[in-house]
Amino acid sequence: MSFWEELRAYKDFDFDGFLRRTSPEDVRRVLGGESRAPLDFLTLLAPAAAGCLEEMARRAQDITRRNFGNVILLYTPLYLANHCVNHCRYCSFNAGHRIERRQLSMDEIREEAEAIAGLGFQDLLVLTGESRSVTPISYLEEALGVLKGYFPALGLEIYPLTTDEYRRLIEAGADYLTIYQEVYNPQVYAYMHPRGPKRDYFFRLDAPERAAASGMRGVTIGALLGLDDWRRETFFTGLHAAYLQRKFPQVEVGVSVPRVRPNVGGFIPPVSVDDRELTQIILALRFFLPRAGISVSTRERPWLRDHLLRLGVTRISAASVTAVGGHARPEVGTEQFQPADNRTVEEIKAAIIACGYQPVFKDWHRLW
Ligand code: SF4
Repeated sequence: MSFWEELRAYKDFDFDGFLRRTSPEDVRRVLGGESRAPLDFLTLLAPAAAGCLEEMARRAQDITRRNFGNVILLYTPLYLANHCVNHCRYCSFNAGHRIERRQLSMDEIREEAEAIAGLGFQDLLVLTGESRSVTPISYLEEALGVLKGYFPALGLEIYPLTTDEYRRLIEAGADYLTIYQEVYNPQVYAYMHPRGPKRDYFFRLDAPERAAASGMRGVTIGALLGLDDWRRETFFTGLHAAYLQRKFPQVEVGVSVPRVRPNVGGFIPPVSVDDRELTQIILALRFFLPRAGISVSTRERPWLRDHLLRLGVTRISAASVTAVGGHARPEVGTEQFQPADNRTVEEIKAAIIACGYQPVFKDWHRLW
């Protein structure tokens, strides 16, 4: 069984008709109840729910406080390499772009780790492009071996692996995996990924499940918002997360809501997702997945991130550098995308406190 079976069941579902027929009364009925049926979730994504955002926000705030308390976890990304064999239309690291390609040596990784740990971070998300020849599993194992000396929690955002490969990286120190399907619509997926191993929709779709089955402590998934109809994409993201929660109750399942950002190549997203729509997405996800962490990265502007903090978000990135080796040497490298929130860690901590929350750097500590 794969999540594909569940997704395929909606092949002939009349999304447009359902969303058109949904009324504000339907939205209020869902908000007033406890049902978490898929079509209740879809109801909260309907155009009619856009007029009920304040009621949704109150409900989301209450659900978040009950399940996560008053804390916001801070993490930061570290790009190990930008070599990539894929041609994702929306990404600066696309193999067809003439950018400087870099890969950190173990000494450079140590240098970056010191710079990042010096800012107070204890939760690090490690990223690479997809190049099994430049960044093979053995390189990632060695890098994790260095990094686990600095950070009690290590996440991976890398190319999809086999179950055995995930096991090797867990053994080397990985605690959680972030992997986005990018777009659940298979036709749009094929268009967005014209060449390279990432064309394999199903290998990517099942990667979170393989990671969970391998023993990964946490798995975060998401769709890249802007590539296709955001209501359907959010719906399938939510169903995918719920599927993982049911199948792997011991795994901490999270969702992320990245929107396409300016990039080398000038890709313009075919679908716009404005701030109110992003807010609706987060509120609907919070209602449907009360126990799932929700991450918002520095792709979003400061005032919007501060606003979203109160509505269901539990993890945010800070001091993000999306170029390889950019923490210790900010002058080098092409960014994967341009961050929109460039505040310092201290400024972000102050903003979190001003919103009535407690910033934390650690919610997990590996014992070995
Ligand atoms: S999104 Fe990932 S796989 Fe695609 S081009 Fe960028 S780095 Fe490579």
